[in-house]
Amino acid sequence: MGFPQHRFRRLRSHPTLRRMVRQTRLSVDQLIYPLFVRPGAGVRQPIHSMPGQYQLSVDTLVVECKAVVDLGVPAVLLFGIPEHKDAVGSDASSETGIIQRAVRAIKDACPDLVVITDVCLCAYTDHGHCGVVVDRGGGKDVDNDATLPLLVAEAVSHVKAGADMVAPSDMMDGRVAAIRAGLDEAGFTHTPIMAYAAKYASSYYGPFREAAESPPMFGDRKTYQMDVANADEALREVAADIEEGADIVMVKPALNCLDVIWRVKERFGVPTAAYHVSGEFAAIKAAAANGWLDEKGAAVETTLAIARAGADLIVTYFAKDLARWIREGV
Ligand SMILES: [Zn+2]
Repeated sequence: MGFPQHRFRRLRSHPTLRRMVRQTRLSVDQLIYPLFVRPGAGVRQPIHSMPGQYQLSVDTLVVECKAVVDLGVPAVLLFGIPEHKDAVGSDASSETGIIQRAVRAIKDACPDLVVITDVCLCAYTDHGHCGVVVDRGGGKDVDNDATLPLLVAEAVSHVKAGADMVAPSDMMDGRVAAIRAGLDEAGFTHTPIMAYAAKYASSYYGPFREAAESPPMFGDRKTYQMDVANADEALREVAADIEEGADIVMVKPALNCLDVIWRVKERFGVPTAAYHVSGEFAAIKAAAANGWLDEKGAAVETTLAIARAGADLIVTYFAKDLARWIREGV
């Protein structure tokens, strides 16, 4: 049966009707808010390439987390900017490190907020790479196997400090299995891992590197992050991480990888997260600041698209705005 018996426009004729038949619904429960913590007190330093986002000290971070809780956002994802950087990122697993102090303070003030910590070394190493750098064939490269124990130590120290979940973002082979074993051995058998399973070497991470002060001092990350052209490989990466014990798998970046999100969710059916990354956020912000895009419309549409592609959880710098907009009824 076709036209004129059937008219698609009937169910679009009234806002309330549209609301009733809407297929993809955003929920505040899906949102994870990324936050950056740095040393000091009373710090609320704007990140220029990410308007409305800040580097916070532990005290102001706690205030921010209370606001996040009040908005109903269930989780934060923490990135640390340490006092000291060295070749092996020692501060990453220090009991008095910036993340460890931040986690303790947040869990004290906001016990119901799920605190997820980024597990990687790039913010803690003086060379800005995600692992131990070695000379190889006349050039420098990140040594996979030498990096694993450092990531395990970092993850365990985060969980000891009170982190509810760890999120390894380094893209070393075998790190999920290593971290799972390390957590289990330390008695944290119930702490889940959200693995950055399919993380691409994307140009859209630029603003984040200002935020986390973690740009590589030489070369790029293409020997460990995925080639943007590959999608089948993403499925193999995800399969490996699930096999190694990942509880949630993540695709990053989100908007450029809607096809990957869809295939991952269809193939594996496991809780799937997607990271709407700094460059994707900055693009909307910049266009909106010029009057070229409506910020709320673009942010909601983008987030809906990520959810429609199959993401159960969305890491987004718009989390607080989205929580307000969802409450108002988007
Ligand atoms: Zn890294």
